[in-house]
Amino acid sequence: MPNPSLLILAGDGIGPEVMAEVKRIIDWFGAKRGMHFDVTEDLVGGAAYDRHGTPLHDDTMARAQAVDAVLLGAVGGPKYDNLDFSVKPERGLLRLRKEMDLFANLRPAQCFDALSDFSSLKKEVVAGLDIMIVRELTSGVYFGEPRGIFQEGNERVGINTQRYTESEIDRVARAAFELAMRRNRKLCSMEKANVMESGILWREVVTRVGKDYPEVELSHMYADAGAMQLTRWPKQFDVIVTDNLFGDLLSDLAAMLTGSLGMLPSASLGAPMANGRPKALYEPVHGSAPDIAGQGKANPIACILSFAMALRYSFDMGDEADRLEKAVERVLADGVRTADLLGAEGVAPVSTTGMGDAILAALDASL
Ligand code: NAD
Repeated sequence: MPNPSLLILAGDGIGPEVMAEVKRIIDWFGAKRGMHFDVTEDLVGGAAYDRHGTPLHDDTMARAQAVDAVLLGAVGGPKYDNLDFSVKPERGLLRLRKEMDLFANLRPAQCFDALSDFSSLKKEVVAGLDIMIVRELTSGVYFGEPRGIFQEGNERVGINTQRYTESEIDRVARAAFELAMRRNRKLCSMEKANVMESGILWREVVTRVGKDYPEVELSHMYADAGAMQLTRWPKQFDVIVTDNLFGDLLSDLAAMLTGSLGMLPSASLGAPMANGRPKALYEPVHGSAPDIAGQGKANPIACILSFAMALRYSFDMGDEADRLEKAVERVLADGVRTADLLGAEGVAPVSTTGMGDAILAALDASL
């Protein structure tokens, strides 16, 4: 069997800084666990624009299509703000998502006990929280036609169209059910079937797909009620599946229940490839953080947890993903903090590399 292949696109700003810590962790798994990856690296975003005049070179795109998983840092920065829209760093990321047809966006909201004071909600509401939002990423109102601003009589009208085909709903529902099967076999689907036809179809198709997963307990909720329930008692949920627009809002809401942007990983999955693995891109939720770039202050945990998701969802190494997540939990429980995680405790922050050192030490201790 060939080694699993991984393309690293560190990108801009703090991207390369947090990715440097992930690379040390990948090396650790090779040296200590005999898990070897074929790692290649390339440019994306502003870094690619500086070299090639485009935020994603065709060769890089072709590589991304060929590997088992892509791990991305972050793109963008003030240096590129005045570029033409067509070559802005973010276009590189959008091209990856579009051409890899990554239709299921997985956003975990997990609260490490040591950080439960960080949430804006009461500690007992968030401590131990571990939920996953699956957002449809390639269709819905952000893509539907007709769209635009049109003249109607003597005023203008802005139009966007919510549009979902049965097959689009079917495939994201399947991804969510598969995920629920690996977790606690509980799935809640959210839409607005009370006021939207696309919601009625969504509910019908999700229910139909559910027949193929009788072990999963399926429930439905209107998305507005879902938002309320997520802030009232988020632990009632395990996996949530929803459309592009509602998922955009609900995943941000759920993620921030747990504190800092520097902690949040994500995965975007597409259709299975010939080897049965889904096309996949893993990336932290945060951006390139130009305000702290180059200062060794960035928290690498979001990027490290994105690699843990790759271990679990692309490489079927769930036990090793657990090992890595537990190492992060251990380090936080021991009070190790980058600057973004400092509360009122008065501890001195560690650098990006310091956090990497602590996680590597916790990995060593796990053996
Ligand atoms: P941002 O996520 O880069 O930063 C927001 C705030 O959070 C900043 O104060 C930053 O210092 C802090 N922060 C973010 N990640 C952190 C980490 N790992 N450790 C410690 N602190 C962290 O968002 P922004 O400032 O709105 O955007 C900056 C640039 O990033 C822009 O060019 C934007 O377009 C781009 N961006 C890229 C992505 C991506 O690559 N997926 C996502 C969002 C924004």
